[in-house]
Amino acid sequence: MTAAVNLPKSHKGAVPVRQTKLLIDGAFHDAASGRTFATIDPSTEEVIAEVAEAGPEDVDRAVRAARAALEDGPWARMDARERGRLLMKWADLIEANMEELARLEVLDNGKPIAEALGYDIPSAAATIRYFAGWADKIEGRTIPVSGPFFTYTRREPVGVCGLIIPWNFPLAMAAWKLGPALAAGCAAILKPAEQTPLTALRAGELALEAGVPPGVLNILPGFGGGGAGEAIVKHPGVDKIAFTGEYRTAQIIKRETADSMKRLTFELGGKSPNIVFEDADLDAAVEGAFGAIFLNQGQNCCAGSRAFVHEKIYDRFVEKLAEKAAKRRIGDPLNSDTEHGPQIDQAQFEKIMRYIDLGREQGARLAAGGERVGEKGFYVAPTVFAEVRDEMAIATDEIFGPVVGVLKFKDADEAIRRANDSMFGLAGAVWTRDLDKANAVSARLRAGTVWVNCYNIVDPAAPFGGFKMSGVGRELGEEALNAYTETKTVTIRN
Ligand code: NAD
Repeated sequence: MTAAVNLPKSHKGAVPVRQTKLLIDGAFHDAASGRTFATIDPSTEEVIAEVAEAGPEDVDRAVRAARAALEDGPWARMDARERGRLLMKWADLIEANMEELARLEVLDNGKPIAEALGYDIPSAAATIRYFAGWADKIEGRTIPVSGPFFTYTRREPVGVCGLIIPWNFPLAMAAWKLGPALAAGCAAILKPAEQTPLTALRAGELALEAGVPPGVLNILPGFGGGGAGEAIVKHPGVDKIAFTGEYRTAQIIKRETADSMKRLTFELGGKSPNIVFEDADLDAAVEGAFGAIFLNQGQNCCAGSRAFVHEKIYDRFVEKLAEKAAKRRIGDPLNSDTEHGPQIDQAQFEKIMRYIDLGREQGARLAAGGERVGEKGFYVAPTVFAEVRDEMAIATDEIFGPVVGVLKFKDADEAIRRANDSMFGLAGAVWTRDLDKANAVSARLRAGTVWVNCYNIVDPAAPFGGFKMSGVGRELGEEALNAYTETKTVTIRN
């Protein structure tokens, strides 16, 4: 049951941290308050850097710079094709600095370097490039109205956008919001998560190098409630908030913007079901369910944390999944053969361990993992629980860690009903060789994304977002772009 341990070593000094200040109006500054906060390497628990902590005064300065950029700066006068060209250049620079950004991401977040190089940084570049392509394709319509009138629509930038993101895919989450916001011609104030500010700041330097004008992109590391996040949400000069994080934070943001009527889009949590039918390719389904939960140590909004498996293949599925989990290479995330790094911080580590205890207490059978790994760093072994029942806490709550519950079902109707019996509806998957069944089940799952015989396939062109408590609106694809525009109708008397 104990996984192979490759204890972390210190990476201090191995990765240059070039930028720790706030990006406001095209230059890097200390916080007005002079305050800083420490960002920690989750694999060693050592301080990586002290980062400037933005507060309300900095937010106000950034909002004024963003407003000025929108109203009379070069951004306001720039034609759409040039805007797209700048974003393409920024994407190229991110790619050209891939190795540095990946190492910085690993240091700050703890994810394995293979994941940072294989997904996080390339997908950030790909997302910005995809939206760069949209910049000169934002079109209105002509509308045949009654009477002697000519009516057309324009799609205009929504304005100053406050972009608030979490720590699990730091640069990718920044790109998911900045790509469409800047392509649409908005100005942005990005607040990275307090745990992971470093790659956004470095990418901010690269944006300036690409020629993004002052005030268009402001980056304000800091805290949420009581800090920069709350100040962005409450600032009257911000037109839209795009938030990714916990649903409880989204509820606060919704309440705080009720009077100002700011535009809101939310990408929130999940408890995604992975339904494995008896006719599935069992090895492929085990492999898929494994990646679905353990990618990024389970710190994934669409993590497949509930595996519903048909009773006829249940025992073999559990055995194979547990065997793979026990073999996962845990260790120093900067080693290229490491598959599993630490959780983000002490609080997440403790929360996950509490859920593992609850799983045991409520009668689930621990088939793999369940323990801390090593003495330093926030490592939790990949954990598989069998004989999980729907009402157990590990089956209802988003754990946001490497813990999967395997549940048994008899037929499709039952699996769909139980899969949908969740406050969340972000994603889900179906494993079967029967395409008719796959389509029928996909149509009945209440989730924003359904994967068939695959998992975690996310593309900049395909909309991504949640039903129910998993969010409002969509990121990626044309839908994301539209969420950063306002439609204006112009009617002319002929
Ligand atoms: P969180 O809500 O605590 O924090 C997210 C961000 O919001 C951080 O930048 C934080 O500083 C800020 N924040 C916190 N309180 C705030 C407030 N009162 N006002 C303004 N800003 C505030 O979430 P977390 O624990 O950092 O992230 C994990 C959550 O994110 C999980 O629920 C996960 O499922 C979700 N997530 C969703 C997606 C998606 O695309 N649906 C992607 C990644 C993560």
